[in-house]
Amino acid sequence: MSSTPAVPKYNEDLQADIETSVNDSPKVKVHRVEWAKVLAGSPVEINPSLGSGFKVMDVNEWAGRWKTSAEFPQCLACGGSNTKEHAFTQTWCRGKRVWESESLCLDCHRFSWRGYRDPDFKTPEQYEKERWGALVAGLQG
Ligand SMILES: [Zn+2]
Repeated sequence: MSSTPAVPKYNEDLQADIETSVNDSPKVKVHRVEWAKVLAGSPVEINPSLGSGFKVMDVNEWAGRWKTSAEFPQCLACGGSNTKEHAFTQTWCRGKRVWESESLCLDCHRFSWRGYRDPDFKTPEQYEKERWGALVAGLQG
């Protein structure tokens, strides 16, 4: 009998506080540019899975391709849950994680950003650097 170890979820067993902010435009630059166009009534690029070219879209159509975050559906501005998560990244390294999530609220049109970092998270590059540092120190010992 063998069982696969459970894959930890990014939002569980947190070791630090989640940072949050509410913004009028998204943090991701490409989305920020598109958002400004949607508000101005200018055409934006059609999702390649649906077609090609550009089209004038309202907020609901523009955000229609995104899903509501199962973990963080709540809008930080109005408390509603009519949100679409348009950006999510997570990085795991040796069981430690950093992640960011941003959702657009379809009710108040504000962006809720959440960011998290395990207190002892290090990137693979940092581990590598420390390993070499220790080696060098050992040689000089
Ligand atoms: Zn809202």
